[in-house]
Amino acid sequence: MAGAVPSESDILCETCGYTLNGLPDSSNCPECGAAISQSTTQSGRGLTGFEERSGLSSFITTTLAVLLRPTLFYRALATRTDHPAAAWFAQRHRFIASLLFCSAAIGYGLWLESISRRPRDLEASDFLALLLLYFICSIGLFFFMGVLTRFAGWLSSLESAYWGMRLPIPVVRRCLHYHTASYLPIGIVANIVVWSYRWMIEVGIISRGTGVTFAYTLSGVVIASAAYLFLMYLTAMRQTRYANV
Ligand SMILES: [Zn+2]
Repeated sequence: MAGAVPSESDILCETCGYTLNGLPDSSNCPECGAAISQSTTQSGRGLTGFEERSGLSSFITTTLAVLLRPTLFYRALATRTDHPAAAWFAQRHRFIASLLFCSAAIGYGLWLESISRRPRDLEASDFLALLLLYFICSIGLFFFMGVLTRFAGWLSSLESAYWGMRLPIPVVRRCLHYHTASYLPIGIVANIVVWSYRWMIEVGIISRGTGVTFAYTLSGVVIASAAYLFLMYLTAMRQTRYANV
């Protein structure tokens, strides 16, 4: 175990994590020299755009902020607040991700069928069954992702405490709400890969027999996605572990 976890009332230096209790706001951190006010009154942490005014445009801008400038986003995120809009943000992204992932999965299933020994032409009733399957799977995935996120939040908090970091469950959960946006690029890439491959077979750009390249490409996407999700998660934890606000 790497030292005791600082208590919620401790003031930590945002830059190095040093305990600043009792030091005046106008002075500097004895450990790294950073201005103490940067960790307290001028921490720059506040509500997200979506929390200040929930709507479609703030949903898009907040999503872009998480995806394009994650370090800046989490460094500016107020961690000691429990604004309900964070959960709505996560819910909307979970919903979009569920639809995208299930669409990619169905595309993959159709590809398996098309390379099977006796592929058959799809009929209208098949499309209806697929559509039904699509919605049922999406709803199931939506709830499953919610449970998974809660479990991940609990686990991360436990692990950070083991390493002596002050990341209580509400803070981790708040970060994970915004982390949900990271599923969006993965879902989009997965759909592009799966459906463009199917389209290329359909129009005869590639033959049905070249499944190995597809399998490798898809495995590559899965591995890169896992690495991407982990990096985004790490960024969130790094930028909030010394937060006081
Ligand atoms: Zn410091």
